[in-house]
Amino acid sequence: MEDGLLLVVSGPSGAGKSTVCAQLRTEMPELGLSVSVTTRSPRAGEEEGINYFFRTAEQFAQMQANDEFLESAHVYGNSYGTPKQYVFDQIAQGKDILLEIEMQGALQVKRRFDRGVFIFVVPPTLSDLKHRILKRGSETPESLMRRFSSAYNELSYLDEYHYLVVNDSVDLAVERIRSIIVAEKCRMDRNARLRRRLLDEGADNGV
Ligand code: ADP
Ligand code: 5GP
Repeated sequence: MEDGLLLVVSGPSGAGKSTVCAQLRTEMPELGLSVSVTTRSPRAGEEEGINYFFRTAEQFAQMQANDEFLESAHVYGNSYGTPKQYVFDQIAQGKDILLEIEMQGALQVKRRFDRGVFIFVVPPTLSDLKHRILKRGSETPESLMRRFSSAYNELSYLDEYHYLVVNDSVDLAVERIRSIIVAEKCRMDRNARLRRRLLDEGADNGV
């Protein structure tokens, strides 16, 4: 059995990552989703252990001190982190896992795990981005501006990612990410065991 894929999806707040990843998971239920820890308060409809593990700043700092995170970052005034053990267990069991995290954290993962697949989701235009954040209705005017200007800054790190997915329509964006997953699984360097088995089989048959 080959290791599972570690997929990292980033993109500016409001690009539609949560929407796209949620639909991707309904179409690919076998795809695991890493649930992050955050110090921010739950939004309406968000559930503990489903959207995030909601923790106090003190609890978060303790987890950091215990080296429990694969990566962590301070974003828009709150801390976010990916629990390490769960991710590595899933990959070792051959299961694919998706991390929906921002860019600083994605770069930390890239440094620690070079077999990851890094995908950046963008809206068709920055004005779409503003409308989507407004539509979600979760931000104050200050936090909207903060998210919008940090979205613009994040674009300078696009080259760190392997794939750019435009979220013009959710269906198309999901289809693009599915295609990336299929292609990545066919990569020669991800199929070392199968290659070896085929070569051994040939040798066993006297070829
Ligand atoms: P993110 O997780 O990147 O911050 P969300 O998934 O919360 O973004 O989406 C932000 C808003 O944009 C939501 O109201 C969502 O319904 C909407 N949205 C997501 N994808 C699209 C799309 N392709 N077209 C129009 N609106 C979208
Ligand atoms: P939100 O508050 O809108 O849920 O998330 C804000 C940003 O934090 C988003 O870009 C989201 O992808 C990112 N994020 C969520 N979880 C994590 C995490 O565990 N680590 C990092 N680095 N970013 C995260």
